[in-house]
Amino acid sequence: METQRHPGSPAAGPVAVAPPDVVTEPAPVDVAVTQPAAVDVMVTQPAAVDVVVIGAGQAGLAAAATLRRRGLTAADELVVLDADNGPGGAWQHRWPSLRLGTAHRIFPLPGRPLPVADPELPAAEVVAAYFGDYERELGLPVLRPVRVDAVARGEDDRLVVRAGGRAWAARAVVSATGTWRSPFVPHVPGIETFAGRQMHTVDYRSADELAGLRVLVVGGGASAVQLLAEVAPVATTTWVTRRPPVWLPEGTLGEDAGRAAVAGVERRVREGLPPQSVVSTTGLVMTPAVRAARDAGQLQRLPMPARFTPDGVTWADGSHAAVDVVLWCTGFRPSVQHLAPLGLRTRAGGIRLDGTRAVDEPRLHLVGYGPSASTIGANRAGQAAAREVLRDLARTPVPAARPA
Ligand SMILES: Cc1cc2nc3c(=O)[nH]c(=O)nc-3n(C[C@H](O)[C@H](O)[C@H](O)COP(=O)(O)OP(=O)(O)OC[C@H]3O[C@@H](n4cnc5c(N)ncnc54)[C@H](O)[C@@H]3O)c2cc1C
Repeated sequence: METQRHPGSPAAGPVAVAPPDVVTEPAPVDVAVTQPAAVDVMVTQPAAVDVVVIGAGQAGLAAAATLRRRGLTAADELVVLDADNGPGGAWQHRWPSLRLGTAHRIFPLPGRPLPVADPELPAAEVVAAYFGDYERELGLPVLRPVRVDAVARGEDDRLVVRAGGRAWAARAVVSATGTWRSPFVPHVPGIETFAGRQMHTVDYRSADELAGLRVLVVGGGASAVQLLAEVAPVATTTWVTRRPPVWLPEGTLGEDAGRAAVAGVERRVREGLPPQSVVSTTGLVMTPAVRAARDAGQLQRLPMPARFTPDGVTWADGSHAAVDVVLWCTGFRPSVQHLAPLGLRTRAGGIRLDGTRAVDEPRLHLVGYGPSASTIGANRAGQAAAREVLRDLARTPVPAARPA
């Protein structure tokens, strides 16, 4: 996996953030939207299939289940390619102390209720088992681990999906690759001199490993406050954010506010702007654990430091804090590197969508992207994309001579 860093950011200190596909700020403009060239995919004899779904998280499974239920049951009709070793999408990687009862809200996959489970169980375990059962019960044709490297325009009006030495020629592609593999780390001057340890949310396993240390938690989102609430009781924490955090007035996001936030992100995506997280447009949820941390005085936020030094951070007013570990809770970017050959990225750094359909490549749908990056959004988007794909397939006759 890659971590995306600020373009000016040198490699990290001795213990580098070296998890997934690391992203940096701002999103790189890889190819202009207009007139992308057809790419020589250097693959002979891709397997012909009607639809390739890339990713078997909530969004990919919702799409695949709808396609399967509506009749795509043959091997040359549907395939799901997933980069992970097992089922569960990003949930399988979440830290063990994220319990079923402390996750915000996990919506069930279409047509199958979540199992009744002890809320104290790790969400990673319960969701991975549930997704696995779903795949088996619905007979979803998931191949893993298969990491898609590239989607490009091929012959016969097909998109060629390439993964290592394997390739599929698809009439439609649903890309449902989430964000977990693209953790984002912003650039802060002097970070290359910092001698301590750096971790991103994706590396966090438990507060125990940080016990007794001086930990700088960076970020104003939900993961930052959740991890602070866990780490602050056992470590000396300093919390820094770019902007003062905004707490939701009633502690949780109401339906109207939720709809308005999603509509705002939808607008951005339609215009080809990089999607924002919903929290950045609404506010932070006050869970009981977070409230307890706040009442204990553990959520005292400071502005971002001006720079890192070998032993910590310094603010503009000259004050300094010694730091052993930096915990970057600075979010993610969409994992869409495999779509680069299609040249869809706008100059602003987003991909223009109309609903789930890529405006500049109508055979491609993106689900779990932008406004649908939540379990409920992923469900809706996955099903909507599948319905549109089915309509398109019905409209487009299959060429007589199909690739082998
Ligand atoms: C820490 C954290 C907590 C969250 N908690 C909640 C919550 O409580 N409730 C909620 O609604 N939402 C929550 N979210 C948002 C959450 O990410 C979404 O709700 C949803 O689970 C994402 O589903 P997805 O299918 O889009 O992506 P993922 O679950 O990330 O699945 C993507 C899949 O695509 C695969 N993949 C990626 N790249 C490739 C590739 N190139 N080739 C092949 N396969 C690939 C991956 O292996 C993975 O299986 C949380 C997010 C984070 C980061």
